[in-house]
Order: sequence, then structure tokens, then C-alpha cells
Amino acid sequence: MRCRLKLGGPDQAVQARYSLSQTEKSSLSRLAKAITVWSRVLGRHFPWREQDAGAYHKIVAEVLLQRTRAETVGSFYDAFFARYPDWRSLANASVDELEGVLRPIGLWKRRAASLRALAEFAVERDGVFPRSRRLHAQIPAVGQYVSNAIALFQHGKRRPLLDVNMARVIERYIHPRKLVDIRYDPWLQEASAWLVKRGDPVEINWAILDFGALICRARSPLCPECPLHRNCHYFASKVKHGSHRGTVGGG
Ligand code: SF4
Repeated sequence: MRCRLKLGGPDQAVQARYSLSQTEKSSLSRLAKAITVWSRVLGRHFPWREQDAGAYHKIVAEVLLQRTRAETVGSFYDAFFARYPDWRSLANASVDELEGVLRPIGLWKRRAASLRALAEFAVERDGVFPRSRRLHAQIPAVGQYVSNAIALFQHGKRRPLLDVNMARVIERYIHPRKLVDIRYDPWLQEASAWLVKRGDPVEINWAILDFGALICRARSPLCPECPLHRNCHYFASKVKHGSHRGTVGGG
């Protein structure tokens, strides 16, 4: 294991480097392949994943999806984008107005601030965000996750939408991370970055989010019917101890 740490904050977390072992890379490649096959049959469909959804819709949807169930955002999506069809309409809304509109899905203050900041930044640049993560860090209320969403959906970069769901699947399948905060854990950062390079990065990101929501659930993962269970470390340890139910860190 070779690990070089240089951490200054969430947006500098990717500066921490971990060299994945060959075994870890092989496991991640297997994981990517299996969830891609699974998602092509059983993955979920949402409006922000449709062909006519542009970068604006996809980036804003990711802000709405943070710590919120995709089904909740799905039921809110049409009304929100009918009211705010582009960055300019969002930038023209007051923070008070946005907070009121966002209240039904929760985290309205944080989301309103984040969306307004993104919209103002986008309008000043004709809707095009810079490619550099360093410049994204200058946008108020935009952290690593949204920065990766911008890179993925606007610039076609292979970036992971690493949240607790993606983290849970990777950790259960291979091994738990070392650090509490996923933004700082160099192994998890490298593992997720490697994972989305095993195929179409958008497809893999959405596949693993669906897989975490439907199969490798936080509570009561459906291990016996999981296509990964033969090589899953979490499942193997549960079988060894006579149980296959529970969660990472939660038994
Ligand atoms: S076997 Fe269970 S813990 Fe392992 S990836 Fe599948 S659902 Fe998750």
C-alpha cells in the first residue's frame, strides 16, 4: 500500500493519493461489470437521465438529490424545471423564493444557496463552468460532489458521484474505508475514480446508485439474490458469522 496524504479541505481531498493493489483493481472491474449488466435490466428511470436532459438539468438534479431519495426528486422534478427551465431563470429567483419552492424536499436553505451560487456563476459564463476543480472551489456552496457532477455532465470527465450509497457498495464489496469523511479517504477516492473508468462513467455512476438503493441497501441488503455475493467480502464475513443481514459499521 502506498499512500501520500496532502489534505487541505474537501476540494483538495483528491490530492491525497492511494495506489490501488492489483487485487483491488480486479475487484472494482468485476463490480463495474456486474452492476452495469444488472442496471441495464433492472436500473431505474428518472427524467434527468433521459436523452433530452442537458447539463443544466443533470447538475441541478444532483444538487436536489443530495441526501434525498431519487423518487422524491422525481416527483418534484417536472414542476421545478417548468418554473426554472435554465440557469438564467434560476439566477433571477430570490433566495427566499427558492427556499419556499425547495422546502417540500428538505434542506431548502442549503440547496437554495447552492443553486443560486451555481446559477449566478453559470449566467456570467454563458452556462459553461470551468473544467478545473480548483476553479469550482471558488463557487460558494459547491463541494466535491457537485464539482464532480459538473465535470461528468458538462465536460465528459470520468468522475465519480461519490456519496454514502456508492461508498457503501464499494466498502462492502471490497473492504471498509479508513477515514470517516468519504471526501478525505484516499482509498475510497481512488477506488471510486477507478470504478467509473471501467466503462461509460455516467452509466456506471447511475448503476451503482441504483444498486445501492435497490440491492445493496443500507439496511437489509438483498445479499442472497445479489449478483456480486460470491466475491463480496461483507457477505463472506456475514456467512462466516452465521448472518448475512446488517450494514457496514452497523452490523
Ligand atoms: S452481497 Fe450483499 S453486501 Fe455484498 S454487494 Fe451484494 S448486496 Fe451488497
